[in-house]
Amino acid sequence: MTAEAILRVAVPAPLYTCFDYLAPAGVNSAGLEPGVRLLVPFGRGERCGVLLEVVAESQLESAKLRRASRLLDRKPLLGQDDIELLLWAAEYYHHPVGEVITSAFPVRLRKGKAPSEPGVPGWSLSASGKGVVPEELKRAPRQAQIIGLLQKQPDLPISQHDIYIQTGGECRSILRALEKRGWLEQCVVRTAENLSPTSAAESAKQLNSDQQIAVNAVQQDGDSFQPFLLDGVTGSGKTEVYLNLVEQTIAAGKQVLILAPEIGLTPQLLQRFQNRISSPIALMHSGLSELEREQAWIAASRGEAGVVIGTRSAVFTPMPRLGLVIVDEEHDISFKQQDGFRYSARDMALVRARRSNCPVVLGSATPSLESLRNAQAGRYQHLMLLERAGEAEPPRLDILDIRSAHLDAGISPVLFRMIGEELEKGNQALLFLNRRGYAPLLSCYDCGWIAECRRCDSRMTYHMGKNLLWCHHCGSQRPVDRTCPECGRSRIKPLGQGTERLEEVLLQRFPNSGVVRIDRDSTRNKGSLQRLLDEIHQGKHQILLGTQMLAKGHHFPDVTLVGILDVDQGLFGADFRAAERMAQLITQVSGRAGRAKKPGRVVVQTRHPDHPLINTLIRDGYGAFAIEALSERRSALLPPYSYQALVRAEATSDDLPRLFLEAALEQGRSLSNGVEFWGPVPAPMERRAGHYRAHLLLQSNSRRELHSMLASWLPKIRDFKLARRVRWSLDVDPQEML
Ligand code: ADP
Ligand code: ZN
Ligand code: ZN
Repeated sequence: MTAEAILRVAVPAPLYTCFDYLAPAGVNSAGLEPGVRLLVPFGRGERCGVLLEVVAESQLESAKLRRASRLLDRKPLLGQDDIELLLWAAEYYHHPVGEVITSAFPVRLRKGKAPSEPGVPGWSLSASGKGVVPEELKRAPRQAQIIGLLQKQPDLPISQHDIYIQTGGECRSILRALEKRGWLEQCVVRTAENLSPTSAAESAKQLNSDQQIAVNAVQQDGDSFQPFLLDGVTGSGKTEVYLNLVEQTIAAGKQVLILAPEIGLTPQLLQRFQNRISSPIALMHSGLSELEREQAWIAASRGEAGVVIGTRSAVFTPMPRLGLVIVDEEHDISFKQQDGFRYSARDMALVRARRSNCPVVLGSATPSLESLRNAQAGRYQHLMLLERAGEAEPPRLDILDIRSAHLDAGISPVLFRMIGEELEKGNQALLFLNRRGYAPLLSCYDCGWIAECRRCDSRMTYHMGKNLLWCHHCGSQRPVDRTCPECGRSRIKPLGQGTERLEEVLLQRFPNSGVVRIDRDSTRNKGSLQRLLDEIHQGKHQILLGTQMLAKGHHFPDVTLVGILDVDQGLFGADFRAAERMAQLITQVSGRAGRAKKPGRVVVQTRHPDHPLINTLIRDGYGAFAIEALSERRSALLPPYSYQALVRAEATSDDLPRLFLEAALEQGRSLSNGVEFWGPVPAPMERRAGHYRAHLLLQSNSRRELHSMLASWLPKIRDFKLARRVRWSLDVDPQEML
């Protein structure tokens, strides 16, 4: 008897190996292609794994091999290229292979469900939904409206899009509420026009010469791997360059993958693609339902969608005809996953383009120092758009010394006056403060007591809207103290400013102007960000204030003054990347000023007007700042001139993380060749959400040495007894030292 072929399967589990099985009973293993899903017995249960290869021999004795229970797909859901990319990622990030492979799938497919048929997401009535009397839902008029609509033809599902149209707009949260009540069920509605509708209504702009040079350069390398850094000031027409490249790639019969940070926050970007590109666009971001994302994934993997626009995880979407990868705002930290499988989607985009032999364009007005370094070293072709497109002029930046100013809600009298002047001219002013809530501190006037989080080494933020104390690190909330727990007196006061307080003060000072606040609190409900942005564009508000949500890619043509209220915390951060991030933020926020015909002005308030970073940035721009910052990194031998990996450990007792990391360090010292260890040290916030946390940082001048050291070290420390008593993780190329 010839031995039966062995199926090597990636199973979602926190384990670093694949598992061998025999084919399910009645299934011929010879006909199985890698990329199909299999239900396999695992431990005492069953899991949905993915076939990686069919091999002749197993390490395991044949008697111990178990049989897979069921084949879930006739055709592979992942191609060989996709599998290899994911295996590469598992190895590079030293993450369990089964978890990496399954993270490429939409949630339902991960769980072993059959892929939904092509169509658009829709809703149907459940049995109990058919019996609901809409008139009785008096307190939920939109729910009643939607139920009423579906009950007209109770057995016919309606697409989500049609429900929006027929019931007056955004209703995702209402649909979910109806689903929770058991009255509606999600389904797929078959229609001819699949996917996000595009209209190609807008015509291309005549490119300026810098844009044309950029487009030509990428086009020239259209059939081979070549990274480009598209380095263009805000408003210089990068998006226009992308649109051009996308059109050409589609015309050549290929697909385009576009990664962007938090698309939900920048609906305008999406709108522009939909207005210009005639091929179907598959969208993938967290604002969509699982079914919507799955539909997009399927359309991309079958090659039906010409374009995928998505956030981080879209980088793993199977695309059989990939011909171009674009990473917009490549410096954005949201491309790095900060838990579990800690990959960088920007870096994976490069690996992916190399494997697919196609160009990759990293675009930003404030490129990361990593990418600038790669451009300097000639690994990326550096394309610059130095001027704003169209008629817009670059904004003028000024430092405002507030050391002796009398501030009100963090705003100096000079800035108040400037805001007033712009409002009189009918312009809009934008104020940036990266702190939500009313006040970052609640303190006793008599004894100096400060409200602290009980689970973290941090202070509670006072939120006036909700009238509670809220920890921004662990999310815990509690009522506001009426009397001081230390001295018993009741003169308790909020100290410092958050966006809520800023809004209050601006409303008092400028009672005749509309004030709109954009932060995570004011935009928590679905659709509310879009509504606020629409109101801004309609000119309802003259004063815009907000957190970094306002810095991202928005186009506000009437904003002529930008005030950045507080840069000082960023200047002295513990993280060596603090200055880079602050410079990016200042530049991005400044980019919101004077984007159309009116000239813009930016005022940066600081108590450190002589700080070299601030001065270089304001006087000579981000490019000059980056050169200085890179030379500092070079002399300190910090990334991008060295490579890092961070081991984090946490536990409910305060000594275990340190003990574990000390043991790991000792083990590592015996292996290391050219790898330096820093630590273990307590994390910058040692206690968070009730856990004590410590770090051990590894650094080397050679990426290869670091990774080969990790490969021999990690299996050893996984076996430590202490490893089971702490929660620990490895972060390769960490972006935040938190
Ligand atoms: P970025 O993505 O670099 O911020 P955009 O592509 O959004 O820049 O362009 C900024 C503005 O300039 C947009 O309103 C865009 O329509 C306009 N624009 C871009 N390129 C051109 C061009 N070649 N001619 C005229 N207007 C342009
Ligand atoms: Zn007190
Ligand atoms: Zn907390």
